[in-house]
Amino acid sequence: MKYVSTRGITTLGRFTDVLLMGLAPDGGLAMPERVPTFSAQELEGLRHLEYPDLAYRIMRPFIDDVPDADLRRILRDTYTPAVFHSKDITPLTPLGSSGLYLLELSNGPSLAFKDVAMQFLGHMFEYVLEARGEHLNILGATSGDTGSAAEYAMLGKGRVNVFMLSPHGRMSAFQQAQMYSLAEPNIFNIALQGVFDDCQDLVKAVNADHGFKARFDIGAVNSINWARVLAQAVYYFKAYFALNLPAGAEADFSVPSGNFGNVFAGYLARRMGLPIGQLIVASNENDVLHEFFSTGVYHVRPAERVAATSSPSMDIGKASNFERYLYAITGNDAPQTHGWWGEVGQGRPVDLRGTPHWDAVKASGLRGGRSTHADRLNTIRRLDQTYGRLIDPHTADGVLVGEVYRRPGVPMVCLETALPAKFEETVQEAVGRLPERPERFEGIERLDKHFDVLPNDVETLKAYIAQKLAGRAQG
Ligand SMILES: *Cc1c(COP(=O)(O)O)cnc(C)c1O
Repeated sequence: MKYVSTRGITTLGRFTDVLLMGLAPDGGLAMPERVPTFSAQELEGLRHLEYPDLAYRIMRPFIDDVPDADLRRILRDTYTPAVFHSKDITPLTPLGSSGLYLLELSNGPSLAFKDVAMQFLGHMFEYVLEARGEHLNILGATSGDTGSAAEYAMLGKGRVNVFMLSPHGRMSAFQQAQMYSLAEPNIFNIALQGVFDDCQDLVKAVNADHGFKARFDIGAVNSINWARVLAQAVYYFKAYFALNLPAGAEADFSVPSGNFGNVFAGYLARRMGLPIGQLIVASNENDVLHEFFSTGVYHVRPAERVAATSSPSMDIGKASNFERYLYAITGNDAPQTHGWWGEVGQGRPVDLRGTPHWDAVKASGLRGGRSTHADRLNTIRRLDQTYGRLIDPHTADGVLVGEVYRRPGVPMVCLETALPAKFEETVQEAVGRLPERPERFEGIERLDKHFDVLPNDVETLKAYIAQKLAGRAQG
């Protein structure tokens, strides 16, 4: 399978090439040159597979430059009950007899759905770097979930170091403890004196120094990584089969969305032939995507106009994977996509009203919706009272918006993107008590914390990275 850029370059290489790539050289995102589909009969053949075997069948057409036995082994090593605390890896739980279901994606090491893809990335990186005799130093910025998922995925990976910037003192006590309690020689937590946007700006500034980037093998694991999107498509299949519907019957999915990576994976599954009717893009108060799906106009919001909400992992004004979606609905029209992103870069809207592209959006099954803080609290409370099931504020957003689009007789699968323990302050506000914590996180706030505080200055950051890597080379 060859990969192309959404903005025109057609020679990005094969899977292992785009695995380690951030943006394509033309600023676009990597996409497979075509999307293979499963026939109804082939889908039947996938129905009873265990998670690693299912993942193999879904991902194999997109990964044809890794030997068969190696890919199977990597997937078996990644998707184990020991890591995901469930024999089904991503179990599906009905909410009473309502026709609503929770797809549990958050039983992994960091208690958020990002583990499902990031764990795969950790194994895949180690494999490819080993084969090439290379090393990689991941530099990232996090406001919470991405950083912890990346760090847990790279634990003990000898060819990878992680430098993770987080805004000093601005994450929840639990999130800080999750990251800072890791005492691993290849993990470097940097608490930056600034806000999340400052962290992101510093990462960009380091990446803009091409000499430094090449000399120190700087890479990323951000949400535009194609391998993450691909790995996420698998659990849509797993959930669909767990519903046990007659062949060909439709299911709907509701997805709490920020950077559009998770819901795009659902769109990919639909394109591969999985009978998904609607894919609900659920937003919070930062509702750029809701605006697009209800009006046909996409208008990104600058960082200073993005509100801080009780579902912080969705506080995004510019959804980076959205470019992949627009590229796909134009039938892979790279010049068109390039033109649109030029406009977006200038802060101008993309307006699809009255064009064939808008019809393609409607035919794609995606629908939008939003929730407020009060909506999320009510939803958390209602699910606790009605079904005895506690959910986190991101998942609550998805459940609420999913209910709006319910169709009689069609199941609605709501993706559980984090466990309530991860956002216990909001959960307590909703139900007046703290959620249960998985045992392995009891008392985590009392563990020693390992992090360095740095000023918001790119030269200091570069010197820090150089010094730590020199230390690693000696040790
Ligand atoms: C990252 C994240 C999201 C948003 O997912 P995208 O793929 O960026 O749309 C939603 N909920 C939680 C808990 C997250 O960590």
